[in-house]
Amino acid sequence: MAEEAKKKAQTAAGQPVLIRKANTAAAAGAASTSAATTSAISACISAICQPSAEDADPRVCPICFEMTGDVTPVKHLDPPVGDASSHRMCRACRQAWGQSICPFCKEVTTAAELVGFIQGFIRTVSSSTHDANASAAVLETIQLFEMEHEGQPSVIRRVYKMIAEDAELGAQIDAALKAQHEWPRDMAGVFWRLDCAAEAGELKGLEPTARMRLQSVVAAIWRPFERGAREPNELDPHYHGALYTQALVAWLCAWRSGMATDGLVAVVQRCGRNLVEWKRTTKMHKDSCTGRVRERLHTEYLQLSHEPIWGSRDADPVWQAFYK
Ligand SMILES: [Zn+2]
Ligand SMILES: [Zn+2]
Repeated sequence: MAEEAKKKAQTAAGQPVLIRKANTAAAAGAASTSAATTSAISACISAICQPSAEDADPRVCPICFEMTGDVTPVKHLDPPVGDASSHRMCRACRQAWGQSICPFCKEVTTAAELVGFIQGFIRTVSSSTHDANASAAVLETIQLFEMEHEGQPSVIRRVYKMIAEDAELGAQIDAALKAQHEWPRDMAGVFWRLDCAAEAGELKGLEPTARMRLQSVVAAIWRPFERGAREPNELDPHYHGALYTQALVAWLCAWRSGMATDGLVAVVQRCGRNLVEWKRTTKMHKDSCTGRVRERLHTEYLQLSHEPIWGSRDADPVWQAFYK
């Protein structure tokens, strides 16, 4: 799934994912067939009584009632309450269902999709050192993941907790912090998203070390952008523009998923004020600096943020500084 999402993200690079999705939703005609099959299975399951464990032959698929020889139990991310031995499907029904939730109890399955997403995420992280474009693709992967699970904030919360607690990713972040690598900055949006979800108590039971690691990586991301006048910040304008876009994307993801946004609103505001202050004090040529920042901003995201983040377009300092 992660690979496919990445491919999708790369082929349409440069165009904001969240906007693209809205524009192309209508064109997704191919999905309607499988949607029909899925709802047929749902209807079938609600129509039949759930077979009780005693009288059901475990070799028979409870959906199509065939003895196909390939009936296997549905795996669950968290084991369901009570007897789940009847939650099983044959291969054909599994393919027709095509979703990462159990059709009987709607619990998230431990199917390849979720695990693959996390593994792909970590692989991308480890292969994207010092490559800002590859790092940005991680953020797009996260965006696509959130869109695929729109209306399922509980799935997003659990997957984000798994990512935050992943040992391999944790070791990679620790090493990056120690060596002051730059890649965490290029995927700031992902870390802000996780950190603010943790801060809002959405990643229930998150390990304290994972929590502290998120705080450290976020602090390291802010540092080069908030050095103050004595140590002027002369990073390439692209980084300043890209950082603001990352903040906006993190906020948009949480907003669309119906999750806590207060922390991310504060992140966008802090990032926006830093950006405007940097433009005011930089020794770079103002016009070329504006142009290069704008190459990394998306007006569609800015427009979505005027009211919820700043109150209005006129009150949006980023818009005022870079588009007026
Ligand atoms: Zn079946
Ligand atoms: Zn189930």
